[in-house]
Amino acid sequence: MLVIMAQSAEKESIENVVQKIKESGLIPHSIPGSMRTAIGVTGNTGAINTDKFSELPGVIRVIRVTAPYKLVSRETKPENTIVNVGGVKFGGKKLPIIAGPCSVESRQQMMEVAEKLKRSGAAMIRGGVYKPRTSPYDFQGLGEEGLEILSEVREKTGLPFVTESIDAESLSLTVKYADMIQIGARNMQNYSLLRAAGKTGKPILLKRGLSATLDEFLMAAEYIMSEGNYNIVLCERGIRTFAQHSRFTLDISIIPTIKQLSHLPIIVDPSHPAGVRDKVIPLSLGAVGAGADGLMVEVHPEPDKALSDGPQSLYPKQFEQLMDKLSIIVPALDREI
Ligand code: PEP
Ligand code: MN
Repeated sequence: MLVIMAQSAEKESIENVVQKIKESGLIPHSIPGSMRTAIGVTGNTGAINTDKFSELPGVIRVIRVTAPYKLVSRETKPENTIVNVGGVKFGGKKLPIIAGPCSVESRQQMMEVAEKLKRSGAAMIRGGVYKPRTSPYDFQGLGEEGLEILSEVREKTGLPFVTESIDAESLSLTVKYADMIQIGARNMQNYSLLRAAGKTGKPILLKRGLSATLDEFLMAAEYIMSEGNYNIVLCERGIRTFAQHSRFTLDISIIPTIKQLSHLPIIVDPSHPAGVRDKVIPLSLGAVGAGADGLMVEVHPEPDKALSDGPQSLYPKQFEQLMDKLSIIVPALDREI
């Protein structure tokens, strides 16, 4: 349910509605917009009697939200959400490009690549320190030492960073260091982790599950938002199909569909669907053309020596070429880079 307040509604009327929602054992979510304030209501198990809210002062309408996802839906919030990550804004006119290696491997590796990425125009740095690897014998990440390295890189370059949390333990450490927390594809339906990410209030980068439908993807975002965290950036990273010519199939069609159904920004990771670096630039250009609000690209200073995802990691020089191409295409789409 959604309570729509009049544009002229006083702060006291809004607080009164919030109070009445709480008294009914429900959870209010105030969603301010440029034209009106809406109050989303969750926490109900059955239908809510809307009459007791529609007559309160300042209320113009009470709407039942028909979509299964409530808070993430455009019905609840017609305007695009802008997520601010240490000054980098997702969902506005600008297209932030996140870049960095799959895994943080050493201080020297990160310093070297970060300087180059900054020079080429990256807005944020990425690097995993808790890696959800298919094999338990593969490199699992540097853990807290990696978070310290990423923090030093941020200090040196001024660029915020995103890194993945894979469970409650890594999340509680990651929130102390990171500007944005990634929930990876394999954890998209880890509901206790989603709730815990919601409780942090930090910007969350939520990647689409390997075989998640659109509804499952948006419901995962709803879990985070139901805990009061509205700072979510969605990330399409390819899904499993019968195609064998790429590691995953990049589902570009989800971009305009999400934009229709949700107010949340959506970016694209072209590296994991590509699987090999030669396909990363074409997929990036396609994603931006389809309306992506940004990209997250794997770049390694020496991809042949990478401890994870080397074959799909760009050389820094190729990242520079990608940025050059984007600087031509993005303005033609009436956006900025
Ligand atoms: C990653 O970003 O390196 C990663 C593991 O991504 P995904 O969860 O999409 O596989
Ligand atoms: Mn990777």
